[in-house]
Amino acid sequence: MSRESIYKRYIPAVMPEQENDDYAYWFVFNQNKMLITNNSKIKIPYVKDIKELNVFPIRTQYLGTLDGHPCYSVEVNSEMNKLEEMDFRDLRLLYNILDEDIFLLAGKAFQTVNWDQTHQYCGRCGIQTEALQGENAKICPECGFISYTRISPAIITAILKDDKILMAHGKDFPENRYSIIAGFVEPGETLEECVKREVMEEVGIKVKNIRYFGSQPWPFPHSLMIGFISEYESGEICVDNYEITDAKWFDVDNLPELPSKMSISREIIDWYIKSMKEKEI
Ligand SMILES: [Zn+2]
Repeated sequence: MSRESIYKRYIPAVMPEQENDDYAYWFVFNQNKMLITNNSKIKIPYVKDIKELNVFPIRTQYLGTLDGHPCYSVEVNSEMNKLEEMDFRDLRLLYNILDEDIFLLAGKAFQTVNWDQTHQYCGRCGIQTEALQGENAKICPECGFISYTRISPAIITAILKDDKILMAHGKDFPENRYSIIAGFVEPGETLEECVKREVMEEVGIKVKNIRYFGSQPWPFPHSLMIGFISEYESGEICVDNYEITDAKWFDVDNLPELPSKMSISREIIDWYIKSMKEKEI
C-alpha cells in the first residue's frame, strides 16, 4: 500500500499509562455519525475533557496516543443540544475532510464503539460482561467466556485476462458503477480458497496465480479487506443475479464509473490502470 503507516504517530493501548490532564482527541459517535468541529484545523474535538463541550458519554473507551496525546472513543445517544460550530456527520463522508490518520483512527474508534455496544452481555449465558484487564476484550464474570473485538476478514480481487480487468455491478450500486469482486472469508478456508470460491460464486469463472496486493481496515461496520490480483484460468462469465447483476471485461480505455478513492477496490483498479499505461509507453 502506498501510504505511510499510522503507527509512526499512533501507539495503541487499552489503559492510559497514568492519569494525565493532557489535551486529548475525542471520537464521539451517535450511531454512524461522528462529531466534528468547524472551528479548528483538527476537526474533531481536542479538549482535556469532552464534558467541557456538553457531551455526556454513555460509554468511553481508551484507544492509545496520537503524537503523545490520549485518544478516546465515545458513544452518545443523541446529537444533544447542538453546539455552535459542531456537527455530527456520517463517518464515510468525512474521508478527505479529516486528516488521513485521524480518519483511520476514527474507523478504529467506530469499530470499538460498535463492538462495546453490542457485547455488553455474554453471548453464551447472558450475564453482563466486564472489561478484560489489559486486553481489547470482554469477559463474562459467570462463565468466563471472552469476546475479542470483532473483525470480519473479506477478500477483494482484480481478475486480469489479456490486459482486460473483470468488474461487476452489484445490485445496490449506482446505475453505471462497477467494481472488482469481494466477499467474506468463511470458517475453514484460506484467503486464496476464498478468492477462488467468491469469484466462482459471483461470476462463474476459475482464477489462478493469486497474488497478495495489500489490505485495508474497513470499519463499516467491522471488516478487514485483503486485496489480491488474480488471473483468469477458465470459464464464461455467469453472474449470480443476486449480489451481482452484471459483469464484464473492461479494457483500460473503456472503464465504467469506478468506486470512490477511499476504498482498496479503487486502489487496486488504479494499480491496473497505471500498469496498463506503463505498458503502452
Ligand atoms: Zn457467560
